[in-house]
Amino acid sequence: MSEAASERVRRIDAWVRAPVRSLKPYYKAPDLPEALRLDQNTNLMGPNPALADLRLGEAESQYPSRDADGLLEALADFHGHTPDNFLAANGGDEALDILVKAFGEAGSTLVTTTPSYSLYPFYPKLAGMRHVEVPLRAGFAELDVQAILAAKPRIVLIASPNNPTGNRFPTGQVQQLIDEVDGVVVVDEAYIEFAGAKASFLPRIEAHDNLVVLRTFSKAYGLAGLRVGWLAANRDLMAKLRVVKPPFNLGTLPERAAIAALDQQEWVDAGVRTVRAERERMRTKLKSLGFRVHPTDANFLLTEPPIDAGELLLALRRKGILARTFPNSPPVRHCIRFTVGRAEHTDRLVMALQEILKP
Ligand code: PMP
Repeated sequence: MSEAASERVRRIDAWVRAPVRSLKPYYKAPDLPEALRLDQNTNLMGPNPALADLRLGEAESQYPSRDADGLLEALADFHGHTPDNFLAANGGDEALDILVKAFGEAGSTLVTTTPSYSLYPFYPKLAGMRHVEVPLRAGFAELDVQAILAAKPRIVLIASPNNPTGNRFPTGQVQQLIDEVDGVVVVDEAYIEFAGAKASFLPRIEAHDNLVVLRTFSKAYGLAGLRVGWLAANRDLMAKLRVVKPPFNLGTLPERAAIAALDQQEWVDAGVRTVRAERERMRTKLKSLGFRVHPTDANFLLTEPPIDAGELLLALRRKGILARTFPNSPPVRHCIRFTVGRAEHTDRLVMALQEILKP
């Protein structure tokens, strides 16, 4: 770097906020349009039929409603509660940002489990929060409730089903956190549709001052590219989130698509049924190839392959199949995660693995 260029970097570094100086950009998935994407836990059932009827028109010359009111009403109709219990966001990811903007006081504590969704610390670090990682217990099956409480968190982020492990946590443990944490407990249900309806904490939001449920249209609803997620909580907590959320954060098209997708429940349910059948079939096939496969309630399998996970990832990529490894997360460093889709996707993966692993 020339002296002038490094002087410029030095001056910019001096202006930038301290947490930004050490922050790394978030993981960027490989951009291989032809590949079979088993790396992002998205929906592999083909386009949601809701998309077929969407047209760009006169409405797009105007701003959307500030808070995506139409979607909030549709969510209240579909899930119960009232529109003021909901907040729509540009993906569940933006919902996390909004939560941290409201509750993530600099110096206060964020607790996440290890392993969990790798984006979780991103916004809290930016806000100058202290991050405490509490390891999961019993082979990822359980939360260490006492350790989480002992950290005195302002925000706890629990994904159930968890990413990347796939399992749900015992309802009683999550409920104990909600009851005993003097702070906000976010139950991230991005994958809940694959776990069965009864598993959700959504019916409990009005009974607690500190429970926030996070959901997304990116997984079972198949709208990952349109970026629609949402939060649900009691009205008073939601009123605080509403003041920090960016206005117009949902475009007119994503909002209409999400409303239409709520009417395509048969398509969603059929996709969930396929995933539930295929994840068992994939489990059996992978086991017979020498993989250890973790239990799952989601649309992906966390596995321990019989060869080095990084090598396997590259070998699969050469065959046009993307998967996900976790070289920076010690408890799952040796693991590889596969999204579950249709039977043909399972078959293609299994065939590629047979070729790679053959003696
Ligand atoms: N939570 C978890 C646990 C996830 O795995 C994801 C997506 N990878 C999200 C939230 C956010 O999804 P989106 O921003 O697409 O709604």
